[in-house]
Amino acid sequence: MNLRQRVLELARTYRRAQAPLTPARLVDGVGVRLAYGRLPEGRFGAWMPEQNLILLDPQAPPRRQRFTLAHEVMHLLIQQDHDLLSELHEAYAGGELERELEALCNLGAAEMLLPGEVVDAAIARRGQSPRLVLELAEQHKVSEEVAIIAMAERGPVPSLVLVAGGRPLRVYFSARHPRIPDRLPRGLGFRRDDPLVVAVETGLPQKAASRLPNHSQPYWLEAYPKGGRVYGVYKAQLGGGGL
Ligand SMILES: [Zn+2]
Repeated sequence: MNLRQRVLELARTYRRAQAPLTPARLVDGVGVRLAYGRLPEGRFGAWMPEQNLILLDPQAPPRRQRFTLAHEVMHLLIQQDHDLLSELHEAYAGGELERELEALCNLGAAEMLLPGEVVDAAIARRGQSPRLVLELAEQHKVSEEVAIIAMAERGPVPSLVLVAGGRPLRVYFSARHPRIPDRLPRGLGFRRDDPLVVAVETGLPQKAASRLPNHSQPYWLEAYPKGGRVYGVYKAQLGGGGL
């Protein structure tokens, strides 16, 4: 089993053992306390090993709090799994290790809150469309981040899923299938004629061949604007790029 599959298995096992996943039950299984308080700018939660607690920002939206809490719990579950931890350290180092660990904690957190089979069924029924981010989030009361991570992981074609917003348009959050080689940093901007920008400015969904600012390969983009944000699914064009 590769690292991602093992992290998914950790999350599934924990979900079953701790159900129903109230905040108290989410932290109980890893033996830490839950506390609320201010965090540094741009952070919604943190695991504080010295105090043996997970600190959450009470101002964050409730679904975002739940995702952050599950993410911090994943840090602990991975920390407590010595085989997994040593394999992770063998495979990655430095900044790459940090980014991979964060991506794995996101992946596990999404699986904890939104089971993979639910996402598979939704994709089979509705297709991997950007509207599905909103539908999954609403139907299952999870944050958009959770839906984005799950859709990028489980889509039938390797893809990158994102939400962007603001003026000028910036990436708020993105997740990628393991076969998409490059990540998309938060805060990245787009050209004014990018179909994603067109979607949010006209309020009309877009479907177009497209590229990402820092990626070499071409994609097929479906973009869906809603409430000043735009949701995008970038499917890798197999045969057209270096996948
Ligand atoms: Zn983290």
